[in-house]
Amino acid sequence: MPMKIAPSEITICGRTYDEYIEMVKAFHGHVAPGMVLGGFLVDLAHQNLPKGEFFDAICETRACLPDAIQLLTPCTVGNGWLRIIDLGRFALSLFEKYTGDGVRVYVDSQKLNDWPELKAFLFKLKPKKEQDSEALIREINLAHTSIFGVQKVMVNLDAIKSSHRHTFTICPLCGEGYPKDDGDICLGCQGEAPYLSCATTGLQKTDTTTPVTKRLWGR
Ligand code: ZN
Repeated sequence: MPMKIAPSEITICGRTYDEYIEMVKAFHGHVAPGMVLGGFLVDLAHQNLPKGEFFDAICETRACLPDAIQLLTPCTVGNGWLRIIDLGRFALSLFEKYTGDGVRVYVDSQKLNDWPELKAFLFKLKPKKEQDSEALIREINLAHTSIFGVQKVMVNLDAIKSSHRHTFTICPLCGEGYPKDDGDICLGCQGEAPYLSCATTGLQKTDTTTPVTKRLWGR
C-alpha cells in the first residue's frame, strides 16, 4: 500500500483540504468524488509547472475536472485560458501559452488495483446509486496523488487555436446577432438550437424605453 497522508496534512494549491472542500461546495454544489480527485490532480500539475509566466490549461474530460481547474487556477472556460478537449480521459495539462511547454497529469490505471471503490468509480463498474460515496472519498484521500502519472508535454498550439469570429450580422429570422460565417441565417435558426419551443410571452419585462432599433446591436 502506498504511504497514507491524513486529509489534515493534504494541501491543494496552497489551501487546506477543508478549505478546498468548502470551495467545492460553494461552486460545484456538492462534494463530488471527481472534484476531490480533480483537486489533487490540479495540485500535482501545479507542483510540476515548467518555468514560464502565462499558463493555459487543457482538460481532457467534461466531468468535474473543469470545475477543479476553474477553482484552483486563473484558467476558466469564459476567459479562454481553459480549453476542454473531451477525450474522455481524467487528465489535464498546464502549459506555457507562448511556447506550448507543459506538464500533463493523468490517472494511471496501473496503480488502481489497491483501490476498488476508486477503480469502480473511474471505470463506471457500478451504477451511481450503488456507489458508496463515503468509502470512495476515503479511498481518494488515502490514495492522494499516488495513483497519478506526470508527463512533460509540448502542446500543439496551432491545433488548439480558437477560431476568432470577426464579423457579426443580424439573423433575418430571429433578429439576433450571429457570426456571418455561419450562413444566411444563424445556427439556431438552422435547426441547431436545443429548444422544443421558444416563446417570449408571460415573462419578466425587458427594458422598453430604448427604441427597438437601438437595441439590435446598436443599429
Ligand atoms: Zn436566427
